[in-house]
Amino acid sequence: MIAPDPQFLDTLRQIAGPAHVLCEGDLSAYTQDWRKRAQGKALAVVRPASASEVAAIVKACAAASVSLVPQGGNTGLAVGSVPDASGTQVVLSLQRMNAVRALDAANLTLTVEAGCILQSVQEAAEKAGFLFPLSLAAEGSCTLGGNLATNAGGTQVLRYGNARDLCLGLEVVTAQGEIWHGLSGLRKDNTGYDLRNLLIGSEGTLGIITAATLKLFPRPAARLTAWAAVPSMQAAVDLLGLAHQHLGAGLTGFEVMGQFALSLVDKHFAQLRVPLFKDAPWCVLLENSDHESEAHARAQFERLLETALDQGCVSDAVVAENLGQAKALWHIRESIPLAQAEEGLNIKHDISIPVSRIPDFVAQTDALLATEIAGVRLVNFGHLGDGNLHYNVQAPEGSDAKAFLREQEERVNTLVYDAVARFDGSISAEHGVGSLKTDKLPTYKSAVALSLMRAIKQALDPQGTFNPGRVVRL
Ligand code: FAD
Repeated sequence: MIAPDPQFLDTLRQIAGPAHVLCEGDLSAYTQDWRKRAQGKALAVVRPASASEVAAIVKACAAASVSLVPQGGNTGLAVGSVPDASGTQVVLSLQRMNAVRALDAANLTLTVEAGCILQSVQEAAEKAGFLFPLSLAAEGSCTLGGNLATNAGGTQVLRYGNARDLCLGLEVVTAQGEIWHGLSGLRKDNTGYDLRNLLIGSEGTLGIITAATLKLFPRPAARLTAWAAVPSMQAAVDLLGLAHQHLGAGLTGFEVMGQFALSLVDKHFAQLRVPLFKDAPWCVLLENSDHESEAHARAQFERLLETALDQGCVSDAVVAENLGQAKALWHIRESIPLAQAEEGLNIKHDISIPVSRIPDFVAQTDALLATEIAGVRLVNFGHLGDGNLHYNVQAPEGSDAKAFLREQEERVNTLVYDAVARFDGSISAEHGVGSLKTDKLPTYKSAVALSLMRAIKQALDPQGTFNPGRVVRL
């Protein structure tokens, strides 16, 4: 990229309004990532209010050979939403584009702009008597555009699918500054290549999502939550099989949490009162949604847990008595990443493995890390129902965590990712590639897949205007 024309910033001001082109002052909310892994520098942060403003900004950037980093809530965990350190990139913040455009109750769809906060989307659906099921711990600040750009997962994937499964249409600004109006809301459309699914999960490298049409669902009559102590990871997988049999489509969430992960919540947030973890290597959080009644859901849950106790895959369990208790249990699960941050710097892995192979993966990889790097502490938790683990590594107790990361991060990553590859898994289950894993793809993704991905990037964004260096390099 060459230095921008001096008129360039004036052009941006004409498009978005001078108040929405930020160049000075503390811009760290836009330039530093959520985990504080990267501090970039922006030429400007631009905050457009409409798709046509986004299109004009893209054209101006392309004409000036300035690259753009799309940004929603900046809660991404793969360092894909902040500019690099060059000071030559523009951050395109979608946060002002937060309108709910339309609700079509008969079509079960909601059309929202990309900057809508996920929680506001859930609330808009609820107000109209429906459910929008995407749910993750960052829902109070992440945006729908970011959720789609990363194909976010979260805690309800088991039943409703990930962000891709919840989207029926997109409005997108292309690298040429054109607007693709694809907000059809159709459930069937076989007229050629699926552009919507190509754009979803592309992490801002192929187009700017400006609005989306989302699927709505009937609200379940009851949602029940249980917390179970299990004697091993194999027992957790057996419990998952039983839960599928007993709850059928009602099985909505199935989270696993290792004892050390829960001990960090107990240590740093003692007021949350973590149940049953002291005598069990793993705990499981299950959710059952029911369209009949709470009594029906409770009876189903009780039968499941009795069978599991009989078969020895659960050693103890509690079922939440009311919504308040259920929320408190989920709050414990969602506090694990925060407790981990309180404990100090750590190395995160967001991996997926076929569910049936997870017990062997965990046993072998735990043993390997313990042998190779003395004293490492494993903070293992995740969406077991989806085969997705957050297999995180904390520095040895009392050690200098910064130095540990500096000296060991690359080695730990190689040990874990090589193990993931041996088990036919993925090195990014839901957080994406961003900057953190771009250099890992040539090792862990097939050469054919990578060359197809490069061809797509080259075709859609030949100038490299959108989020260059992320996901694939040209
Ligand atoms: P950003 O962080 O702003 O951007 C993420 C990526 O999307 C970047 O590459 C950016 O360039 C691109 N992008 C953003 N908006 C657009 C747009 N409109 N058009 C094109 N590209 C765009 N993720 C999960 O999947 N599951 C979880 O359970 C989960 N839990 C989390 C818990 C915590 C506490 C935190 C902090 C994060 C968690 N995340 C989780 C990660 C993160 O919240 C998700 O990736 C989320 O979808 C990002 O949304 P965002 O609006 O913050 O996007």
